[in-house]
Amino acid sequence: MDKYDAIIVGSGPAGMGAAFSLIEKKKDARILMLDKKPFSTGGMRNDCKMNFTFPIGFPLEYWQEDVANLYLDQVTKFLKPTILPKSNISTYQQRAERLGCSLLEIKQTHLGTDGGLELIKELQKRLEDAGVELSLGEEMLGIDNNRRTITTTKREIGYKTILIAPGRQGFHFLQDVMKMLGISYMDNIIDVGIRVETRLEHYPIVKDYYDPKFYFKEKVRTFCTNSGNAHVVKEKYATARGDVWYSVNGHAFKADENKNNGLVNFAILKTVRFTEPLASGQEFAEHLGLLAALMGGGKPLMQRVGDFRLGRRSKQATFTGDLYDFEPSLKDCCPSDISLAMPSKILRYIWSAMKNLDTIVPGILHPSTIMYYPEIKLYANKPEYKDHNFQVTDSVFFAGDGAGTSRGITGAWASGIRASEGMLRYI
Ligand SMILES: Cc1cc2nc3c(=O)[nH]c(=O)nc-3n(C[C@H](O)[C@H](O)[C@H](O)COP(=O)(O)OP(=O)(O)OC[C@H]3O[C@@H](n4cnc5c(N)ncnc54)[C@H](O)[C@@H]3O)c2cc1C
Repeated sequence: MDKYDAIIVGSGPAGMGAAFSLIEKKKDARILMLDKKPFSTGGMRNDCKMNFTFPIGFPLEYWQEDVANLYLDQVTKFLKPTILPKSNISTYQQRAERLGCSLLEIKQTHLGTDGGLELIKELQKRLEDAGVELSLGEEMLGIDNNRRTITTTKREIGYKTILIAPGRQGFHFLQDVMKMLGISYMDNIIDVGIRVETRLEHYPIVKDYYDPKFYFKEKVRTFCTNSGNAHVVKEKYATARGDVWYSVNGHAFKADENKNNGLVNFAILKTVRFTEPLASGQEFAEHLGLLAALMGGGKPLMQRVGDFRLGRRSKQATFTGDLYDFEPSLKDCCPSDISLAMPSKILRYIWSAMKNLDTIVPGILHPSTIMYYPEIKLYANKPEYKDHNFQVTDSVFFAGDGAGTSRGITGAWASGIRASEGMLRYI
């Protein structure tokens, strides 16, 4: 049986943060990084815009500002981002404040999906040069922490310590691992909303601020703005029973005037927290996702703002006609009536946020604007952590979006570093 000092499951930013930090401090350690995909590095493949200001990407239940900033400094030193310039922010901020909303000013960089791939290749080479073994296309299936072994699709492997960082799509897998290890957890929070797509001229703020972070009342916010060569995409999810549903998402390629498709997309999300009775966010999300899939013939839904305001569904025949003057970037989506699929309370707050946004940045409610549904973020697995380093049981650590310690690339990277400091005690 192969044996390692440390195994890192998941080659996303959480796994990367841990691997580089471990190998820097223990140069002779035998470290194995596994990823079930034949390529990776996790979510850095998508758009790769990185935020370097607290609290973006740092869930407040695990991060205080001073602690997050210490780790963000380390992430910044390692990744050496070129921060994007911003302009006219105070104009937008004043308009937002008059409406009881806010615009957070943050440090950002944007590599684009293609730029992210270049960074991933560079990171993987740096890891291998440093002596970390990378095994792609190998999936972790189970764990026996008494024997300090895991099983994968290829073999049984021994460890002294392990970090499991399987990301948002590893949500189910992580819950299975927690059951195997007898760790209690909660997953009572989710973000539910829509992705908005419109022409650049209807959301010109992106020329001043690449990914503007607006906060509205009732825990509604804008999230993950993409522009230039920007596309809406769908992500596949499956329930434990194997029923498939889709969440939409967005990304852009790196800035290139010749490839600009003239579109911008961003999410407007509402955070939903279940208290009494304590419901599973995952199950709630699955019900919403399945309802949308049922209405969309297995696809996510889209509706033009013009149709939404008139209270009628968008139809294939009218979706690209007349005023509806741009093609959706996500073709495999069903013109529909999102108000039939979305809980009314969530829809009400999101529509209210859109009206506020249209006052701050006039244009977003143009009839051609598309609202895609559902966009759901499942990062609310909240395991019972034993210490500051996200240890869940003797020698086992979790980190990243799937484990609730982050909500973005830099937060995931910082979580990986923080977990690695605990792992060092076992090597
Ligand atoms: C379309 C899209 C666009 C995004 N854009 C941005 C953005 O611009 N900026 C930003 O900050 N964030 C963005 N995000 C979110 C960001 O990708 C995540 O916050 C971040 O990647 C989380 O890092 P992670 O290491 O926790 O998980 P991930 O990056 O998801 O990595 C987890 C890895 O674990 C692997 N894995 C899972 N299960 C197993 C298993 N059983 N065995 C072995 N390997 C396994 C997966 O294959 C994956 O590679 C985006 C996400 C998506 C989906």
